[in-house]
Amino acid sequence: MTDRNDELFDEARRVIPGGVNSPVRAYGSVGGSPRFLASARGPYVTDAAGREYVDLVASWGPALLGHAEPEVVEAVREAASRGLSFGAPTEGEVELAELIAGRVVSGERRPVDRVRLVSTGTEATMTAIRLARGYTGRDLLIKFAGHYHGHSDGLLAAAGSGVATLALPGSAGVPAPIAAQTLVLPYNDLSAVEEAFAVHGDRIAAIIVEAAAANMGVVPPLPGYNAALADLAHSHGALLILDEVLTGFRVHPAGFWGLQQELGETYLPDLFTFGKVVGGGMPLAALGGRADVMDALAPVGPVYQAGTLSGNPLSVAAGLATLRLATPEVYDRVDAAASAVADALAGALDIAGVTHTVPRAGSLFGLAFRDEVPTTYAEAQDQESWRYAPFFHAMLDAGVSLPPSVFEAWFLTAAHDEEALGRVVGALPRAARAAAE
Ligand code: PLP
Repeated sequence: MTDRNDELFDEARRVIPGGVNSPVRAYGSVGGSPRFLASARGPYVTDAAGREYVDLVASWGPALLGHAEPEVVEAVREAASRGLSFGAPTEGEVELAELIAGRVVSGERRPVDRVRLVSTGTEATMTAIRLARGYTGRDLLIKFAGHYHGHSDGLLAAAGSGVATLALPGSAGVPAPIAAQTLVLPYNDLSAVEEAFAVHGDRIAAIIVEAAAANMGVVPPLPGYNAALADLAHSHGALLILDEVLTGFRVHPAGFWGLQQELGETYLPDLFTFGKVVGGGMPLAALGGRADVMDALAPVGPVYQAGTLSGNPLSVAAGLATLRLATPEVYDRVDAAASAVADALAGALDIAGVTHTVPRAGSLFGLAFRDEVPTTYAEAQDQESWRYAPFFHAMLDAGVSLPPSVFEAWFLTAAHDEEALGRVVGALPRAARAAAE
């Protein structure tokens, strides 16, 4: 039976490569037509055929408060009435930069002195790397296999979910000399980092790491790992870039870094990248960090970066409204909702006899069809990933929209109330049986 989603997918493929504007949306690894969404409210999304789903994608993270939160929508509406884009500084940008800097704190630790607003997470990480290179005068970058930092040339080596879903090693179109500037090391393996510094120490500008890996499924850092990366970088004159595009303002008011500080793992990254929640669903991302490093950016310093739409007033309004509404109670609600779904998921797969693990990093969790929490990209890939497609479609048939790849995190929001959670939990046993077949 074809419905409006199938028709739209056929039409889309004639005019948009693969029918989508970001590859994972194409349902490539689960099959079938993607749901073309028409609207979203709270924990629900509605597709082009008029069918409603409980949404566990949350726009891939930004919708911390739930979709179309009325105060956020009103803030955007109000901003729109005053002009869509100025290409000039605004008061809102100053407020948002102050809010970000004031929130990423832990006791005396205030690692964000300055903030630059950009439009996407890709731009934030790309700029952070250029800045680290300009500041240190060095070229090489360490990244970890399975970590995704956006789609700029130097960062697409072994880049996790989208690329893993497509089973591509990296991307065509990246010149070899550019790829050669990135050293890709196994995650959670400090000896690999020590070795890289031993060989290339005075050429390494920075280590970039997801605060907690969540683009190869969820693969949390081992205890002490992030702090050890900071020590290693600093003892060799390199910088640590903590990529909180996905985790920032989602797992804790001060990001995954804040959560770790609270748990006693103290360390200071030099630069942070933020995205997703910080823009409240609008195109906005940021980098922030130590004043002496950030001031190497133009117009103060020699590292160039710019953007026609940077600090767009509608995006800033959405970000400000979202962060102001993201109170500790919001995080408590998201944590509780995530625990309820993660526990029910594990329980349903246990009963169905399916080998699985549900790795967690704060309120982020994922599903892996293997018996132990993965610690590396190789381990994350070593699972019975073919079980995900039948599982995913059973959930979709029951009105629950999951990420269309086993290599993605599941996202809860503060709007997932008992009714929405009940629908998810109610759908799990049948989906678990589908995964068992
Ligand atoms: N960094 C991380 C950790 C991400 O998860 C993402 C996107 O998922 C990015 C960077 C890139 O962000 P964007 O998709 O906004 O370019």
